[in-house]
Amino acid sequence: MRILVIEDEPQLARHVTSALTRHGHLASSRHDGAEGLQAALAETPDLIVLDLNLPSLDGLTILGRLQAAACPARVLILTARGDVEHRVKGLNAGADDYLTKPFSLDELVARVEALGRRGATPTAADLLKVSDLQMDVQRRRVMRAGRNVALSPREFDVLQVLMQEPGRVFSRTELCERVWQRDHEYDTRTVEIFITRLRKKVDSAFTSPLIHTIRSVGYTIRAAS
Ligand code: CA
Repeated sequence: MRILVIEDEPQLARHVTSALTRHGHLASSRHDGAEGLQAALAETPDLIVLDLNLPSLDGLTILGRLQAAACPARVLILTARGDVEHRVKGLNAGADDYLTKPFSLDELVARVEALGRRGATPTAADLLKVSDLQMDVQRRRVMRAGRNVALSPREFDVLQVLMQEPGRVFSRTELCERVWQRDHEYDTRTVEIFITRLRKKVDSAFTSPLIHTIRSVGYTIRAAS
């Protein structure tokens, strides 16, 4: 992918572009908001990594201008820890995903590549729904009761397998094979850890849990009956 990094901390920008380059992408960077916007419109990258706090033109303004120009690039925003308001504004302004600083370069590359798998137009099969839980497969986004649920790429993959067939019980082995395929580094214990993580993110704030354990069989997702 051709990736534009708009980040005013030169060292961070350099680390990000070199990590992306190592993974086979064509990455360049700008350290100023106005220059970044100009480059985004002129170079039409596939994806933009956009810091929100920038000199001369802030990230939210850039997002607005990109939307106005119908820029097709996917946008991953970078936000400061705890800056929930900006993150929400960014996602509402059309960003596809976000990362909170400080982040690991591995996580950044994973998010970028997950966004890269996104196709052009979502179809019905790309929008999964169980009760008030919604998954936009193409945009790799999950919402519960209208609120964004931030999942790691693998958490997302596990949830996607469950949501594709609500009510069907998946054994740990089957989930493991579906999500990790031939990667022997993972075992069924990993599945248990991921289910615990998903429960924390998807169910813990709600009175009716959607993810259910079927004793000695496995897991399923279904609306409360
Ligand atoms: Ca900044």
